[in-house]
Amino acid sequence: MSENKTTYESLDGKIAPEALLKDTRGKLQMVDGHGIKQEADYDDPDKLYGMLIARIQKYHPSADVTQIEKAYNLAKKAHGDQKRKSGEPYIIHPLWVAIILADLEMDKETIIAALLHDVVEDTVMTDEEIKEEFGPEVALLVDGVTKLGQIAYDADKIEVQAENLRKMFLAMAKDIRVIIIKLADRLHNMRTLKYMKPEKQKEKARETMDIYAPIAQRLGISKLKIELEDLSLKYLEPEAYYDLVEKIAVRKSARDAYVHRLMNDVEACLKDAGIKATVMGRAKHFFSIYKKMVNQNKTLDQIYDLFAIRIIVDDVKDCYAALGVIHEKYKPIPGRFKDYIAMPKPNMYQSLHT
Ligand code: MN
Repeated sequence: MSENKTTYESLDGKIAPEALLKDTRGKLQMVDGHGIKQEADYDDPDKLYGMLIARIQKYHPSADVTQIEKAYNLAKKAHGDQKRKSGEPYIIHPLWVAIILADLEMDKETIIAALLHDVVEDTVMTDEEIKEEFGPEVALLVDGVTKLGQIAYDADKIEVQAENLRKMFLAMAKDIRVIIIKLADRLHNMRTLKYMKPEKQKEKARETMDIYAPIAQRLGISKLKIELEDLSLKYLEPEAYYDLVEKIAVRKSARDAYVHRLMNDVEACLKDAGIKATVMGRAKHFFSIYKKMVNQNKTLDQIYDLFAIRIIVDDVKDCYAALGVIHEKYKPIPGRFKDYIAMPKPNMYQSLHT
């Protein structure tokens, strides 16, 4: 019930944004997990840069952005006329990677390294120059990301070797921020995968599902894990994916209303009991539903936790107290209660599930 703040929240209990996407005119597109935007909205690099700074200032209002601006201008110049497969200027990509990281409230060095993450690999700029301009810390991060990019995967063996590849990946990066940048890099590449050839799409999706998503999970960054898994499913099992998107979207409004009522009731009960808490709705993501249907051979109707309520409290004592309040009002389902406080998950996740 209480959970690390970095996890994915959809505050109003709405389903993952892509469920809203009923792409009839081929115009609408989910761009960043925050909603649907017109494709043309953000292809201007300077506008994207403005968005990046705005998001940084949300969690770090007094941030000195001169170094970030310098990195942006330098990367833009270094990538020059290079284009993404989508036809957009290449700088769009590092900008989005930096924005994903700003949403995770990462530090300045990580944001700067994100903006520069492809310049050593793809342009004439060298490691030494980065060190000179931005210091050894940023240079090490960029170098780490470049090296991780050089791990060669054998497409046929990914499933068999996944555990080894994940270990190698984690061992190669001496700084955890390198891995987080790499995950953000992969996420943006997955968001824009539709511009790749079908064969490449499957290959990248397989890699993402078997290597990147589990690493995100192991690091406890469920916001990234969820989107990586859903995007992989979309390319690995397109039929199942679109089937789910459609079925779930249909029931969405009824479910939203129900979740809202439930949230209000729960909030009131906790308040009466004198427990300070934040109550949120969360929708199960597509891959998680899909996995449950396949593994437990269930239909969509047989899945009870398509949505859930999440209660965040200040300490462990309040967490158990909140559970007491909930079980007093709602009858628990036998065998469904889990105490991850007494027995944390391997990634140190702690909470109570009921
Ligand atoms: Mn990249």
